[in-house]
Amino acid sequence: MKCIRCGIQKSGRDDHFICDDCIEFSKIVQEMYREIEDKMTNSTVIDPDTDRFLQLISDGTFITAYNPQTSIFYKICEFIIQKAYKGASEITEEELNKSIKTTRSWGGVFKVFEELNLINVRVEDYQRIIQITEKTKKLSRQYDSGNPLSEQVIKRLAHIYSGYILLYIMYKLSQLEDLDGEFDLPYNEKPKTLWNVLMFLWGEAYKGEEKFSEDDFIKFVSKRRIPSTTRGEILKALQAMSGRTVQGLIKEIVVNNDKISFKFEDYVLLEMRRVRDNRERTR
Ligand SMILES: [Zn+2]
Repeated sequence: MKCIRCGIQKSGRDDHFICDDCIEFSKIVQEMYREIEDKMTNSTVIDPDTDRFLQLISDGTFITAYNPQTSIFYKICEFIIQKAYKGASEITEEELNKSIKTTRSWGGVFKVFEELNLINVRVEDYQRIIQITEKTKKLSRQYDSGNPLSEQVIKRLAHIYSGYILLYIMYKLSQLEDLDGEFDLPYNEKPKTLWNVLMFLWGEAYKGEEKFSEDDFIKFVSKRRIPSTTRGEILKALQAMSGRTVQGLIKEIVVNNDKISFKFEDYVLLEMRRVRDNRERTR
């Protein structure tokens, strides 16, 4: 039988179950989602340079670069942030189609953004029009100093924005109790790579492990059927060798007798520790 959240298999009579790792990680995801939702809705300043929790969420999005399933969310985030920063209130479906290449339909993406109150969608002249809400505009104005934003800053904002959205999708998966629930997920599918890679990385930091070995990572994600090519790309990104993205989770690679270990950045451990303390306090 198969875990409905992560896909790991074990022998047993039922066709599905929820594994212990997923039960624990789901609680962590729910705690983290509560915190980001509160910040996105109530904070006046949303700045990853000063807020380490936002940085943690942003840094998790490096996975989207290697995962077609979730990359569409990152691309549309970048586009909307750019538009919102330039003062646009609406985006037409035609503009989106011209700017973002994807084989997926927009419906699944729009649904998530609407649920989070980041956009509203209406139909006019046979096409959909995306209205940018105040919640999105607030984020896009973060670094507004009157000077045009650099590519770098736009990217940073897009990372927070998509980190928030991806955490929301994980939050949905954390509540999945049976197979029927899959219809509630975007495109009716589980964000398997995102879930499993972060379950390992955030999970290790949550336990207070300062480092993890490449072997343990491989073992963990392979059991959950993450393809070896994806796994290889993620490992390369963690070693910061890929050039396609920068992730800020790892501060050092240690090689010992041909075995590779990764050391977490201090802030990752501190933030996960804080999440853990919060959870224990509210329990
Ligand atoms: Zn599981």
